Amino acid sequence: MPYEGEYAHYQPLKRIVESERVQQLLRRSRVLGPTVLTQEAMPKTPPAADSPLPSLVLAIDGSYAEVDVRNGYPGAKVGYCSVASVVLNLAELEHLDIDRPVNPVDFRRTEAPSSDASALPGCNVITRDHSSAKDSFREALFDLLHDAIVDEEDNTRLLATYQALLAYKPTEKIECPYAHLGCDHQVPITSDVSTCPCERRKPLFPTDALRIHERFNDDSGTNGEAFGYVLSVWERLLLIHLLRCFEQRNWLDRLNAVAFFLDGPLAIFGPPAWLSAAVSRELQRLNAIVQEKTGNDIVIVGIEKSGNFVAHFEEIDSREDGGQHFQPGSFFLPTDAYIKKRIIFSDSTKRYGADTYFGRKFFYKTKSGARIVANIPFLTPEQDSLASDDPAPYPRLGTVCALLDKLVTCRFPNALAPIVSAHAQASIPLHLGQKVLRQLAQVLMRERG
Ligand SMILES: [Zn+2]
Repeated sequence: MPYEGEYAHYQPLKRIVESERVQQLLRRSRVLGPTVLTQEAMPKTPPAADSPLPSLVLAIDGSYAEVDVRNGYPGAKVGYCSVASVVLNLAELEHLDIDRPVNPVDFRRTEAPSSDASALPGCNVITRDHSSAKDSFREALFDLLHDAIVDEEDNTRLLATYQALLAYKPTEKIECPYAHLGCDHQVPITSDVSTCPCERRKPLFPTDALRIHERFNDDSGTNGEAFGYVLSVWERLLLIHLLRCFEQRNWLDRLNAVAFFLDGPLAIFGPPAWLSAAVSRELQRLNAIVQEKTGNDIVIVGIEKSGNFVAHFEEIDSREDGGQHFQPGSFFLPTDAYIKKRIIFSDSTKRYGADTYFGRKFFYKTKSGARIVANIPFLTPEQDSLASDDPAPYPRLGTVCALLDKLVTCRFPNALAPIVSAHAQASIPLHLGQKVLRQLAQVLMRERG
């Protein structure tokens, strides 16, 4: 077997693609011709948006970087993860909007950013009395959720939200994280720190249930996969955490004024995927309260910037005659059957994303012509389905489309301004004072008065 990357040194990738072996494989593979591509994706006009639209957008976005550190061990690395939340005041954005394109400096004034960062051990970084980098990583992940106080005036820890979600998980034992020390127990993971029953009496963390450590490499280079999972879990926990803070402060009746935007799909992949079902259950619980108080659903949107759905949207939107399949201001809600036939080929009877998604995807062409692949959550049992392309079960879809029309920037045509700037903020975590709730409170109370 060749070493990884070996061929890349011998010939350019293009020549590999053109090679007879690859071409033979492609001749045996399914091909979707351009004429069939658009047949089943029928764009529709979105339902009417709520009036007024939510005036605040809270965007959550994270990033990570793996950096080399010098500690005397070769290849030592640290993962630097940060999650930012940006509160964007749409009413103020409106004033700027009159002379588009928005000046980025003015645009920044409408944002109130806040971010939090954490350094996690990577390869060959061993803390305290741990016996491996993996165990150091496990403890650091626990510390991250334990120490993360989202708002300086609110002492609820992110860990409390994680514990609430863990309580929804059916208890099952996992392979002891100390298998590398010779422990062969299957251990239960509880909501508090416990110890493995074997003679080593090593600590087990509630966050071990995420099993991200199973993708941590002690001995070889990069841990991007593990850090990616940490980030995805952190962002989604923060969303649920903020909603629970709203609940505790009796603010759920104000949620008509707020829209939550998340970077990436409304899903959790890999070993922590079980968290997706727990997130879904908690969202449905919170939404039932919001429904009762406001008569409406919570607005939550996930934005996908890359991947197969983004590529597919681009493909079906370009007609052979050079025109575009989607008119500005139209959407398409792909069904399970469509996804399996056209996007992620599958013969399975199991629903696409059944174990990972707590929402579904839709394509939207904004009025300015930008293509957006967005996700909306399953907030009721009725919404939790990919069977139909009828938007009727999703009363906020029209509002989401109207918000997308407002938020798309000219500079980043297929991205969203708040998401983009949250990303910029996350990359430069200067704002460690965390006042998300206070900032929200100020705007919400001002509007109430
Ligand atoms: Zn053990």
